[in-house]
This record gives sequence, C-alpha cells and structure tokens, in this order.
Amino acid sequence: MELIFEKSRKGKIGGTLPGQDTGMKVEIDRRYARSRDAELPCVSEPEVVRHFTRLSRMNFGVDSHFYPLGSCTMKYNPKFTEKIASLEEFTSLHPLQPQLVKGEKLTQGALEIIYNLEQVLSEITGMAEFTTQPMAGAHGELTGVMLIAAYHKKKGNRKKYVLIPDSGHGTNPASAAIAGYEVVSVPSDENGVMDMAKFRENISEEVAGVMLTCPNTLGIFNPHIREISDIAHEADAIMYYDGANLNAIMGKARPGDLGFDVVHLNLHKTFATPHGGGGPGAGPVGVSERLAEFLPVPRVVKHPGGEFRLDYDLPLSIGYVAPFYGNFGVLLKAYAYILLLGREGLVEATENAVLNARYLKFHLEKDYEIPYGDNCLHEFVISASRQAEKGVRAIDIAKGLIDRGIHPPTIYFPLIVKEAMMVEPTETESRETLDMFIRVMKELAQIADKIPEEFKNFPRNAPVGRVDEVKAAKDMDVALLPSDNSG
Ligand SMILES: *Cc1c(COP(=O)(O)O)cnc(C)c1O
Repeated sequence: MELIFEKSRKGKIGGTLPGQDTGMKVEIDRRYARSRDAELPCVSEPEVVRHFTRLSRMNFGVDSHFYPLGSCTMKYNPKFTEKIASLEEFTSLHPLQPQLVKGEKLTQGALEIIYNLEQVLSEITGMAEFTTQPMAGAHGELTGVMLIAAYHKKKGNRKKYVLIPDSGHGTNPASAAIAGYEVVSVPSDENGVMDMAKFRENISEEVAGVMLTCPNTLGIFNPHIREISDIAHEADAIMYYDGANLNAIMGKARPGDLGFDVVHLNLHKTFATPHGGGGPGAGPVGVSERLAEFLPVPRVVKHPGGEFRLDYDLPLSIGYVAPFYGNFGVLLKAYAYILLLGREGLVEATENAVLNARYLKFHLEKDYEIPYGDNCLHEFVISASRQAEKGVRAIDIAKGLIDRGIHPPTIYFPLIVKEAMMVEPTETESRETLDMFIRVMKELAQIADKIPEEFKNFPRNAPVGRVDEVKAAKDMDVALLPSDNSG
C-alpha cells in the first residue's frame, strides 16, 4: 500500500495510510530517505503484459491443466472467492487496527468471519473449538502436537512416543519429532491400514498420541478406527486426525464422533483456496473440550452484547503460533466457499470426489496393478510394477503424462507401494477430463507393454519442453531459456 509522506519539522518523514484515519503515523528518519528518485526501469504496457503473460504460460496449474496430484487435493479454486478477498473493506484492514475505538467497530466484521469460520469448521469435524491461526498443514500438525504435549504436561503424564502408521504423510513424523517426541512407525497390514497386532504391541502408557490419516494416503478408510481410539484412550494417548484432505468424508463422517481429540484441516486443499505455489495456506486446528484451554492466543470471543474481541487471557495456552491471526485472506476465501456450497454442496463435493476416484480406478485396473483399496475413497494408488518389469518406471510414465499435457500424480509415495502413482482427481473434474486421462494412461501402458524401448528413446528425456530438473534447479538463467533438450 502506498504511503503518503509528509515532511515534519524534526527532520523526520511521517506518513499515514490513505483513506484511513486510524491515527497511526509512520516516522522514517531522514537518513534513510532518498535524495533522488529511484532509477526504475521504464517499460511500455505491451512489454509488461507480454512479460507476465509469458511467465503465466510457463505455469502448470489447476487453471491450465488436469492436476491429479494424490494427497494434495489440487481442486479448482473458484474465482468468486478471489473477488471477495479483494474487496476493499478487507484489503484495507490492518492487523494492528484497534478492534473498537470510542464505540466505533473497526474490525468487527473480520473478527466475526474468523469466529464464524471456527464455528463452522467445528461443526463439520465434530470438534468443540477451532483455531484458524496455523498457516499450513504441517504448521497445524505442529500446533496440534504441541497441544497434546501441553495436555500431558498439565496432567503430569510421562510420555515419550507418538505412533504413526507407515503410510502417513512425511510431515506427521516431522511434526511429532519437532514437538519433542520419538516417532514409532507402525506397519500397515495386507489391506493397507495400520496393522492392529503391531498397534497393540506398540501402544503403552508412554504413548502421547496416535496420528492417523483417515482415509489414509492409499484412499482407504480404516474400519478399526473406533477400536483404535478406545485402546489409545485407555493409555491416555490423544488421537490426532490428519484432515489435510477432508474431501473423502466431509459431510459424511466427523473425526470428533470417531474419537479424535485433535484435527487439522488444510483450507488450501479441501476448502478450495489456492496452494499458492508454496505460498500462503491455512491449517486450522480443532480440538475436543479437554484440549480447548491450551489453544493458541489470541482467541476470537463473542461477548454477550454481540461484540467480538481478541482474548489473550488464557493462562494454559501454548502461546503464539502465528503473527496476528494467521492468513486472513485464505480464511476469508474458505469461508466464502463454505457459505456458497452450504451443507448440501459440501456433501455433494465429497460424493463426487469419491465417485471420480472410483471411476478412474475402475477403468485403469486392467492396465495397471492397484494393490490396495477395492473401495477407495477420494484417491487410490497405482503401482507401475508390471511396467517396471519391462524397464518402464513410474517416473517414465509421469514424464510421458507431462508431455501429453497432464500433471503427473504423486509418485513414489506412499513408500509401502512399489513404483507408486497416487491419483486424486477431485470433484471439480468433468467426465470428459477423466476419460482423457484414462485414454492417456492406457496409451502409456500399451507403449510400455508393446514397445518399451520407446520409453528408453524418448520419454526418458521427457518432458521435451523443459531443461532437466537438476539444471533448472541449479541455474535460474538456464531454466528461463527455451529448452535445447540437451538434458
Ligand atoms: C498436504 C498434506 C499435509 C501437509 O500440508 P502442508 O500444507 O503442505 O504443510 C499433511 N498431511 C497430509 C495427508 C497432506 O496431504
């Protein structure tokens, strides 16, 4: 935002934010002020437009291509939410703006949105309270495990371990370890869910929590979930639900009803906000009643008069986890999305996400090995092991997909499937797009079967439209030049 500067008498330069009489003044010491205008490059409008249009076309995203990246829920991000987030009433808000000045409500609307979003996420997940502060899924996990640690500390429990199935997302063990726990990886059984015998072997009074993704990264819902939470609760271990992708159960089942005490959600997955190229996301965390007193400060509370306030008075809080209140713009978009879809819309999104995944799986079963998940939910994992016997690996098929205008699925994850390709179509894709993907996958399977040397000659160096990734990562100049295909 542009600051309007004015010279003051004391040799300082002060400024106020235009259009807002907030009483805030920014003062900059004269030493740091320019004496000459900055020499900014001058370019014409068409040059600027061409530059940014060219850059935008180098992008591979949900707005340009089918993007079935498993576990990442790369669903289409509706543009009306961008419009809402760019309303001046929101963009001109400043996080340091007082909530109330002489009875005037300066930020009441923003606080109400945060408050309402926390309420609606609690309702969707069956949790008592939510904090929208964490700014990514992994950040939500870390916050969640810190809440678990605070709970045990208050009770005087001596806990050392966090149990995580071996199909868990890599951020799960990382978050548990950063929060100070030792991670125990529990193997999966032949159905692809956590092995119950191994779970029983590892659960003990020393276990602080069990982190589960359900359905897991194989797209399978764990049928033992109630039993697992009962056993965990007996050892006073907290059940943690990784709800980064709630797409499979939103509106159908609630983690709170399944015995979970902590949940994190990725608004940049399930609730259709952009992933932002690694930029702003949001990983809100919900808790059951017994963990609520440890939530991060501040909390948005509603006073009896209907006013919203930020409450810092929580003696047992784990403290701050994010500056101000997290990524407000992202929260706003997710809230708008939820309001537009409503209860029925969210349920329909879930049903279509599952239907689309099952449709793809059904049509690819003959061409590829699909080792787990007869009843997959929102995603499933292909193994390119049959193709690998002929020397064509998952990465070759992935690169063949890029050449045919499709972003490849997640490959080589989860680790328990050889030559894994994890496919998540999401609910926002049409039948035509799914059929196109099926056609291309079948074509690649046929080439791998009949003329595998084709992959050796050509797609191994694919995608042909880009330099090789090592060179691209090491040398930005090379990455921006047209490819000479020497990689
Ligand atoms: C994406 C994802 C995460 C991590 O979320 P980030 O926002 O990338 O930090 C955690 N768990 C699962 C299952 C995920 O898919």
